[in-house]
Amino acid sequence: MIKTNLELSDKPFAVGPLRRHHTHQVNIQWQDRIVAVGGSAPVVVQSMTNTDTADAIATAIQVKELALAGSELVRITVNTPDAAKEVPAIREQLDKMGINVPLVGDFHYNGHKLLSDYPECAQALSKYRINPGNMGGGKRRDDNFAKMIEVALKNNKPVRIGVNWGSLDQDLMAKMMDENNHRAKPWEAQAVMREALVVSAISNAMRAEELGLAADKIILSCKVSHVQDLIAVYRNLATRCHYALHLGLTEAGMGSKGIVASTAALAVLMQEGIGDTIRISLTPEPGGNRANEVIVAQEMLQSMGLRAFTPMVVACPGCGRTSSTFFQELADSIQQFLRKSMPEWSQRYPGVENMNVAVMGCVVNGPGESRHADIGISLPGTGEVPAAPVFIDGERRMTLKGEGIAEEFQQIVEAYVEQRYGQKS
Ligand code: SF4
Repeated sequence: MIKTNLELSDKPFAVGPLRRHHTHQVNIQWQDRIVAVGGSAPVVVQSMTNTDTADAIATAIQVKELALAGSELVRITVNTPDAAKEVPAIREQLDKMGINVPLVGDFHYNGHKLLSDYPECAQALSKYRINPGNMGGGKRRDDNFAKMIEVALKNNKPVRIGVNWGSLDQDLMAKMMDENNHRAKPWEAQAVMREALVVSAISNAMRAEELGLAADKIILSCKVSHVQDLIAVYRNLATRCHYALHLGLTEAGMGSKGIVASTAALAVLMQEGIGDTIRISLTPEPGGNRANEVIVAQEMLQSMGLRAFTPMVVACPGCGRTSSTFFQELADSIQQFLRKSMPEWSQRYPGVENMNVAVMGCVVNGPGESRHADIGISLPGTGEVPAAPVFIDGERRMTLKGEGIAEEFQQIVEAYVEQRYGQKS
C-alpha cells in the first residue's frame, strides 16, 4: 500500500521519453534531398496518396499538397503497368514544381515484375515498400522477393519490408500454429499471430541481407489494426533487431476515432523510444483533406516535445464563464494563420516553430497561461470588462478593445515573429 507522503523528493521527477532504441540510419534520397530515418535522426513524418497513380497530374498535385503540409516522404501505390509507367512523369512534374520530397513505391503481388519491366519507375522512386505476405507462396515468393531486392541493389535504393496482419505469410502462420500445438501450454492464436508478424519481418530482413542488401538499407514495419497488438508487437520487435522501424496503426478509421487510436498506440511507443518514422493512416471524410494525416502526425510529435513543426496554440476549452464563441473563433483563426504562414516563415524565421501562443477565454486562467506563452491574449469572459490584455514574453504589454481584436492580435503576432526570429535569418 502506498502511504501518503508530503516529504520533498530527493531529486526532480524524470521527464521525457526513454532513450531512443538504437537502429541503423537509412538515408532516403532524391537528388540532393536526403531524409534520414533511424539512428539519431528525428522521427520522420510520412504519408500516402489516395489518387490513381496512373493519373500522373492528380497524383503529383496530391504529393505536392502532402509535401507542403510537411510530409517528409510520400508513398504512392504502384499496382499496375499503367501506374508504373506514370511514376517517372509524376517525379518529373514534382521536380518542375520544386517539390523534392522522396517518393516511396508501394508494391504488392506484382512488384517484382513492375520494377523489372519499368526500370525508369524503379529509378524514379527513392524507396520500395515490399509486403512479403503478398508475393505468392513457397519458391515463387522467394524468387519474387529476391527479384525486388536485386532491383533495389541495382538502383541503390532502400526498402521497407512491411508485414501486415491482414496479409500475413500463410505458410509461416500455418507452420507456427503447428509448432504451437506441440507446446506443453499452447499460446492463444492472437499471441501466435503477433509472434508470426515479428518473425516474418525479421526473417525477411535477414534474407534481404543475405541477398546483399545492407542493414542500413532496410526499414521494418509490422502493421496491425488494434492498439494493444501494435504496442506489443513493436516492443518485441525492438528487443530483437536494430533495423529502423516504421510505425503506423493500419485501418485506424475515420475522424476522431482514427486520430485517437493512432495517437494512443504511437505515443506509447514513442515514449518508450521505439519508432523512427510514422504514418497516421486516417480514412478521409468524403471530400476531406488528405493532408490531415500529416497534421495529426506532426501535432502528435510536437505535443510530446519530440519535434517542432508549427507554433503551438494553447487555448482553454471554454466554459460557462465565457458564453460567446469569439474566443473559439480567435483560437481557430490564429491556428490557421500560423499553419498557413509556416511554409514562408520556416525559411525566413528559423526557430519560429517553437513559439507558443495562448488564446484564453477569461481571467481565471487567462493571464497566467498567457504569461507562460511567448505571446498570449486573455479575452473577456461574460460580465468582465470588455478588454483583452496581451502578454509578450511574460509581460503585459497592451490591452485590445473593440471590434478589431482578432486582426490586431494577428498583426501583433506577426510583428513579434519578425522581431524575435527575423534577426537570426
Ligand atoms: S480560462 Fe476561463 S473561460 Fe477558459 S475554461 Fe478556464 S474558466 Fe473557463
